[in-house]
Amino acid sequence: AVCPDFLTHSIKSSGLPASSHSLQIWTEEKKILPNILKKIGCTPMVQINKIGKSYGLKCELLAKCEYFNAGGSVKDRISLRMVEDAERAGIIKPGDTLIEPTSGNTGIGLALVAALKGYRCIIVLPEKMSMEKVDILKALGAEIVRTPCTRFDAPESNVRVAWKLRSQIPNSHILDQVKAIPPLAAFLKTLANLSAPWSAGKVHMVVIGSGTGGTITGVARKLKEKCPECKIIGVDPDGSIVALPSEMNKTNTTTIEVEGIGHDFIPTVLDRSVVDQWYKSNDRDSFLMSRRLIREEGLLCGGSSGSAMSAAVRAARELQEGQRCVVILPDSIRNYMSKFVNDQWMLKNGFLNDAQEHKPWWWNI
Ligand code: PMP
Repeated sequence: AVCPDFLTHSIKSSGLPASSHSLQIWTEEKKILPNILKKIGCTPMVQINKIGKSYGLKCELLAKCEYFNAGGSVKDRISLRMVEDAERAGIIKPGDTLIEPTSGNTGIGLALVAALKGYRCIIVLPEKMSMEKVDILKALGAEIVRTPCTRFDAPESNVRVAWKLRSQIPNSHILDQVKAIPPLAAFLKTLANLSAPWSAGKVHMVVIGSGTGGTITGVARKLKEKCPECKIIGVDPDGSIVALPSEMNKTNTTTIEVEGIGHDFIPTVLDRSVVDQWYKSNDRDSFLMSRRLIREEGLLCGGSSGSAMSAAVRAARELQEGQRCVVILPDSIRNYMSKFVNDQWMLKNGFLNDAQEHKPWWWNI
């Protein structure tokens, strides 16, 4: 590769030798993608350098930064896959309407794919979800229907409202991330990316928050083929009923502020038999951990990333030097600028008052 003129010039005039770093910039600029959908998958794996050490972990701690996907989350993968599978099967064609009940990120992924491929997109999402997500969806041209935060089987729940719309709108489809597509297929790229460098059994633990359960089920199934000894840790927030054994789910917590994980039912796509151990997370530890990931590691992640990492620093205490723990960071700070990133919001919700001395509840266990 040859340096572009402006680089050679500035290197020469600075008196510095041409470095491989400047050559790398040139190589990247040469790669023109036919469209932004090609920027889904192949997300970076990044070392966590400070946080693991601060908890005395001996193992290597790594973050799989899913927010580098084109639409900003891990759910871009399944969104693209669902649309392309349905197209291949002749179920949908451009001009049709795609309806999806979602907590937001699958909606953003779908709206992105729909915008590029020429589908009308209607996203049905609960009131709890952030304004940032709504604005992104609108910017992508999606139509939004907001529903109250009720039980999943209540008539006004986002799932029920989505199915009602489907029955009323001609040529509309619900691709249904919760059950239509086997998670194994949807996550092939995450999996290849997670396991390829370490097929000789070099991942010892993976920590993943569970929403629909698609990510954890897909990653776990594939990874266990490559690294059967790898321990899969599922993370379920207080107030959700998904973790096993089910006594873990007993709590007085009724609301979950962290978005995208936890349910009041067991999603069909979630195969709990692939999870070796569950950890419960809570809002406060999650948000404070996300803020640490941002401040100390420069990882501009969302709230459920903090949930996964706060479970990881507990779970990975059993790993030894030379072993590896991978934590999936599902989405980015972008979705939560008015929420946990904002000090006033943290104070108002009682998450920040004693942050200076913050020790998670399990610290002395
Ligand atoms: N974190 C966030 C922010 C999400 O939007 C989701 C998707 N619901 C998840 C975690 C969990 O992913 P999954 O639905 O695949 O379990």
